[in-house]
Amino acid sequence: MAEMVHAAIENKSQCVVEAGTGTGKTFAYLIPVLLSDKKSIITTGSKALQEQLYHRDLPQLAKILNKGRKVALLKGRANYLCTYRLEQHVAHVPTDDPDVMHQLAMVAKFASQTNTGDLADCVGIEEDAKVLPYVNSTADNCLGKECPDYAECYIRKARIKAMEADIVVINHHLFFADMAVKDSGFAELMPDADNYIFDEAHQIPEIASDYFGDSISTKQLVALINDLRLIYRSDIPDMLQLGNTLNKLETAVADLRLAFAGEGSRGDWRESLTSKTICDALHRVISDLDFLYKVLKLCLDRSDKIEHPFEKVLQFKNQLERAFDTTQTGYSYWYETTRRFLTINITPLNVANKFKEIIERTQASFTFASATLSVNDSLDHFNKSLGLKPEHQLLVESPFDYENQAVLCMPRYLPETSDDMMPHSLVKLAKELIKAAKGRTFLLFTSYRVMHLVYEGLSTATEYPLFMQGQSSKRIILEQFIRHGNAVLMGTASFWEGVDVRGDALSCVLIDKLPFTSPDDPLLQARMKDCELTGGEPFEDIQLPQAIINLKQGVGRLIRDHSDKGVLVICDNRLVTRKYGQTFLQSLPNMRRTRDFQSALQFLENIE
Ligand code: SF4
Repeated sequence: MAEMVHAAIENKSQCVVEAGTGTGKTFAYLIPVLLSDKKSIITTGSKALQEQLYHRDLPQLAKILNKGRKVALLKGRANYLCTYRLEQHVAHVPTDDPDVMHQLAMVAKFASQTNTGDLADCVGIEEDAKVLPYVNSTADNCLGKECPDYAECYIRKARIKAMEADIVVINHHLFFADMAVKDSGFAELMPDADNYIFDEAHQIPEIASDYFGDSISTKQLVALINDLRLIYRSDIPDMLQLGNTLNKLETAVADLRLAFAGEGSRGDWRESLTSKTICDALHRVISDLDFLYKVLKLCLDRSDKIEHPFEKVLQFKNQLERAFDTTQTGYSYWYETTRRFLTINITPLNVANKFKEIIERTQASFTFASATLSVNDSLDHFNKSLGLKPEHQLLVESPFDYENQAVLCMPRYLPETSDDMMPHSLVKLAKELIKAAKGRTFLLFTSYRVMHLVYEGLSTATEYPLFMQGQSSKRIILEQFIRHGNAVLMGTASFWEGVDVRGDALSCVLIDKLPFTSPDDPLLQARMKDCELTGGEPFEDIQLPQAIINLKQGVGRLIRDHSDKGVLVICDNRLVTRKYGQTFLQSLPNMRRTRDFQSALQFLENIE
C-alpha cells in the first residue's frame, strides 16, 4: 500500500485502497506523505482520527524517519472561537437560559487562555453545548476582513498556519465546504496542495452530495435573527420597526417548522408543496424576509455591523424562493425535521461528474483509503460513485485470525425484523448475551424506536451499567463504557463507525437488522428512480452496496486487535433466507459461523 501511495504521489495519479482493521493503513499512507517533498492534505471522516494523526501518528513517524516536516491541523469553521461574536454576546447576553449564561462565562474564561481558539479544548463545553451557536464562526456570520478582530482571528491564524505547513490534517466536511465556497471565492480555509489523502473514504459520496447540493435551514434563519437582534439592542435600540420585524419573522419561521408534523422525519419536498398550510407558511417567511431587507436598508448607515446580515437576508430569501421551483432534473428535493428546525435540501443524485471536475481542477494526486470500500471483493461501486479511474487499486485483508478470534451467530427461530414481537426477542437475546459476556456488549440498532423499546426491556433486567445514545455526548458515553469495563452500550447510526474499543471492555456486538436505508427515504427513492431510468438495477446498484458497507462498519467494532475475541450476533433472517444474504456474508471477515445461539453463548463464556 505504501508503495502504491508513493507512486500515486509521484505520478499525480489516483489510488484506491481498502485495508482491513489492523493492517497499519494509516502508517502506509503517512510514510510516503512524510518522505515526499510535496504539499499534502490528509482528510479524515472523524475528528477522533484527525486528532490521532496530528497529535500521535505524524509526530511519531516524523521522528522515526527523521523528517522535519511542518504539520498543521485545520478544523471546520464551527470548531473555532469567534472572539467578535463572544464579545458581542457577553456585552448583551442573548437569552436568560441559565445553561447558556453559565457556558458563556466558561467560554469567556477559555478565551483569555487559549492560543488556538479550538473550542474542543474548552473544558466543560461539549460538542452539542447550547452556547456554541453564540460563540463559534460560520460562513454565514463571519465578517471576514470587515471584522474588527480580523488581525487576531483564530480562524485566520489557523489558515495562515495551514498555508505555511507541508502537511495539513483536515476533515471531509471542511474539504467539501471549501470546494463549495471556492466557486464563490469567499470564506475558503483550505490551502491548495499537490497531494490529497482521504482516510475513512467510504463516507465521501454521502458528504459530497450534501455539499454539492443546496440547502437552507430554519436554524440559519434563527441564527440570523439572533445576530440582528443583538445589533438592534446594542447599536440602534431606537429603531423599533426593526425589533418588531424581527419578532414577526421569528414567529413566521417557527410556524414554518410547525407546519410539518413530528420530529426526526424526512420527506419529499415536492409533495410538501401540495400542502396549502406549508406553502402559506413559506410565503410568509419570504415576505417577512423581504420586509426585513427593506427595513435594514434604512439602517445601513446607522451601524457598520448591518451590512453583512443585510446581504444574508437577501441570500436566504432567494434560496427560499428557489425552493418553490422543483423542476430541475437530476436532483432530489427533500426535507428533514428535528425537534426545533426544518431543513430543505436540493441534493444531486450523482456526484461523480462534480467530483471529477475537482480532481481535474486541482491537478493533484488523490488517494482514497478505508477499511470498508469493497462490495463482494470489488471496488467498482466506490469508484463509480465518485467517477474515479484509479491507476492503483488494492484490497488488503485484515491480519487478524477471525476464524479463531470471532464467531458470527445468526440465531434460528427469530421473527421477521418487521414483526411486532421482534423487540421482545431482541431483549431476550440481549439479556443472555450480556450475562454470558459479563456486560461488555454493544447493541447496534437501525432505528431509534426499536432501541428505546429494547432499552425499556433491559434497563431493569441487567445488573451491568447500561448506556444509551442520547443520554450524553458520544464521547462521554464511550469514555464511561470503557471506564466501567463491564458496561452495555446501545446506539444507532453514529455508533456503527469511528468507535474503537480495544481489549476487554467489548466482547459482543449485536446488530438488530441489516442496515438498509428505509425505502421511504426520499433521497434513496430519488436515487433509485434515477438508476432505473439510466438502465441500472436500483437494488443491486444502490441499496445493497450501501447496506453492505454500513454492516461492515458495524461489524468492524468487534475485533480491533490481535488479542481481541468476541461474538457478533446479527438478528436478521434475511441473511440466510434471501439470495443477497450471501453477498453480505462474502463481504464480512471470515469468522466462524453458527446458527446455534447456545454455542455463541458458550464462546462468550469461555473468553478470559
Ligand atoms: S473574522 Fe470572522 S471568525 Fe474571525 S473573529 Fe471576526 S467574525 Fe469571528
